[in-house]
Amino acid sequence: MTDKKAMVIFGATGDLALKMTFPSLYFLDKEGHLPPEMVILGVARAQNTDASFAEEIQKAVKQAAKADYSDESFAHFAQRLRYCDGDVTQPAPYAKIAEQLKDTEILLFYMSTSPDFFGVIAQHLRENGLIQPQSRIAIEKPIGHDLASSRLIEASLSQAFPEERIHRVDHYLGKDTVQNLIALRFANMLFEPLWNKDSIEHVQITVAETVGVERRWSYYDSYGALRDVVQNHMLQLLCLVAMEPPANLDADSVRDEKVKVLKSLRPIGAAEVERETVRGQYRKGYTESGAVPGYSEEAGGGNSDTETFVALAAHIDNWRWAGVPFFLRTGKRLPTRTTQIVVQFKPVPHSIFHQSENVPNRLIIRLQPQEEIALEIMNKTPELEAVRLKPVALDLNLTDAFRTARRRIAYERLIFDALKGSTFLFVRRDEVEAAWRWIDRIVDGWKARDMSCLPYTAGTWGPSSAFALTERQGYSWIE
Ligand code: NAP
Repeated sequence: MTDKKAMVIFGATGDLALKMTFPSLYFLDKEGHLPPEMVILGVARAQNTDASFAEEIQKAVKQAAKADYSDESFAHFAQRLRYCDGDVTQPAPYAKIAEQLKDTEILLFYMSTSPDFFGVIAQHLRENGLIQPQSRIAIEKPIGHDLASSRLIEASLSQAFPEERIHRVDHYLGKDTVQNLIALRFANMLFEPLWNKDSIEHVQITVAETVGVERRWSYYDSYGALRDVVQNHMLQLLCLVAMEPPANLDADSVRDEKVKVLKSLRPIGAAEVERETVRGQYRKGYTESGAVPGYSEEAGGGNSDTETFVALAAHIDNWRWAGVPFFLRTGKRLPTRTTQIVVQFKPVPHSIFHQSENVPNRLIIRLQPQEEIALEIMNKTPELEAVRLKPVALDLNLTDAFRTARRRIAYERLIFDALKGSTFLFVRRDEVEAAWRWIDRIVDGWKARDMSCLPYTAGTWGPSSAFALTERQGYSWIE
């Protein structure tokens, strides 16, 4: 076996590759986590030499790494970089890749392109004999546009790679706090006995962005918030909150439990969409960056009914979660950039304190803007005149707790694991399909009910119906 190794990145000049993939690889190299002889071959249509490609990557790495960038470590990293131009839908680039990677062990093909190309690339790789017994493929979300298109992509992939060598990336799973959710639940005695319908009132998951669609209007417009964020990131978070304890930490044991949750999600179809979901689209308004245009006026935009905001009430029909709503909300141009899970416990069964002061406990797991876990518990204020209560957070600020450690980019962990062949933090095909099945039903319901987007002003928390969604059940969104 040759010592020469390679990772091939398709779509190497794109937004994701420049913002995430290459900066992550730079850090992995800097910390000595990449195989010493591994080259990184970027593929895209743009004309580049190895040198001009390395310059482009250097700019991107500098921007992403900020104070952690050094010319010396980039010079080491740059020795790995190679470039191959060509249209991936045509046979030509594959012959060039074969020539460039002669006598080389190809560890990983990373698809940083539109999902439309995943199948065709896998097919060309197979036909050109580029897939070796140890080669793996990593693909980005969303996989397809719905269940039918994801199955077409999966069918082409499965002709080229076995399931255990396909790494479906959902970068939320690469975040430390998300992995910590598993530790929090299953490495502590404190929570699991309370983690059910008897003690938990409801759960909220919010993924709020302040940015608009930026330069990705045409991509975003054909997906919308439900497919772009709920189908993958939010359902993954919901699964990790709701799953049963896995038998062990094997990739399949954990993924088996996540699939069970997805299969227990109560379908939301035409009869339920108006009650259980809200679709919104931002209009011009003000955010922290000043005046911003509406969705249709964004660069490259036009008239469209694609949702930039979704709120929904999900129900998990199993013994643990019967009667506990999971409220999900995501949107662009919201007032703050926040990703958080709030687990709201029930009130005490009988309060000896003044009723209005006895606020139920909350566990808040925050992924953005910074990673932290806080448990809000009731405390007495130090007053003489009266007994008053106030929720105080038992705060586990992970940024402070691990102050000396650099906060890693989620993709570092994912690329590291994919190169090593671990599938633990990647999504299995049946998870993707179960998620699409649930999402497709909502989309069909919207069509059947002709449910257009409700407008909301940029810089606000979405249409007022999103507030009514929780308030109908007696709860409020927690900001
Ligand atoms: P992008 O900016 O449009 O980049 C696409 C890349 O593919 C470019 O390098 C482009 O370079 C190349 N490409 C396009 N057509 C090609 C062709 N026919 N042959 C060869 N190369 C071609 O897209 P992106 O935003 O990086 O997204 C890539 C993938 O990541 C998508 O699946 C997306 O859903 C997923 N994703 C993106 C983000 C994000 O933040 N951007 C986040 C999560 C997931 P040339 O034009 O030079 O060929």
